[in-house]
Amino acid sequence: MDRLKNKVAVVTGAALGLGQAIAIRMAGEGAALAVLDLLEDDARALAARLTAAGHPARGWRCDVSDETMVARVMAEVVDHFGRLDILVNNAGVAGVNKPTHEITEAEWDWVQAINVKGVFFCTKHAIPHLKAAGGGSIINLSSIYGLVGGPDVPPYHASKGAVRLMSKTDALIYAPDGIRVNSIHPGFIWTPMVEHHLQTTDDPEAARQATAALHPLGHMGEPDDIAWGAVYLASDEAKFVTGSELVIDGGYTAR
Ligand code: NAD
Repeated sequence: MDRLKNKVAVVTGAALGLGQAIAIRMAGEGAALAVLDLLEDDARALAARLTAAGHPARGWRCDVSDETMVARVMAEVVDHFGRLDILVNNAGVAGVNKPTHEITEAEWDWVQAINVKGVFFCTKHAIPHLKAAGGGSIINLSSIYGLVGGPDVPPYHASKGAVRLMSKTDALIYAPDGIRVNSIHPGFIWTPMVEHHLQTTDDPEAARQATAALHPLGHMGEPDDIAWGAVYLASDEAKFVTGSELVIDGGYTAR
């Protein structure tokens, strides 16, 4: 109930999917929630839902690939809640599912702008506030696709590999400030992203079953499987954990 009591958390891409589950679980553990998303109405609706349940929360429209907007929203979050302790860099896109030789420069750049530069911008503009709070926790959503290859979505693989090492570099840079930085590596979790991804295949139902079978536990994960990992990394229970990779993948990468 109180694992994140008195902490203020920003979750990006929090309107849907994993970000929404992370925001709900963090609020349930006592954190005040800044719900950021491109989808302003959905972000505000989730914040209203949290507030109605007794948790301090507010929604913002924030495009993580827009540095000016990110800087402004981070400042507004601290103006509103008084501090910042937790940043979850969750916003991300799968991008086109084509072989490398068919991908345009614009398609490549779009994925990097959100998945890589978005993490950079949010981290850059959260750090001064985390330092002012005397430390904090940054949690970056990488993927199993940031650990191992797969025959699909090449720009996404590149972006999630980058996020894995950005997390370790920032863990080392900001350890003296008491700011911990870790990455989470989910297997396939049933969210709108995965639903859309499977719909790009010839037979989405067969693809869903085949994807589930890639996980030794025999099924895809649920958003809460990731949300509880994020709660742990954000909490003081993880006070000695930084630069680590939390793999939550039903055994996908254990082979
Ligand atoms: P999703 O597509 O279901 O939700 C992503 C959210 O991010 C949406 O609310 C969307 O509006 C928002 N968003 C997109 N672009 C944005 C931008 N520029 N600025 C702000 N918000 C933006 O995705 P998800 O499955 O919940 O994935 C969340 C994160 O977890 C992503 O980084 C994804 O790469 C990662 N991940 C997901 C899975 C999975 O199986 N679902 C596996 C591994 C990693």
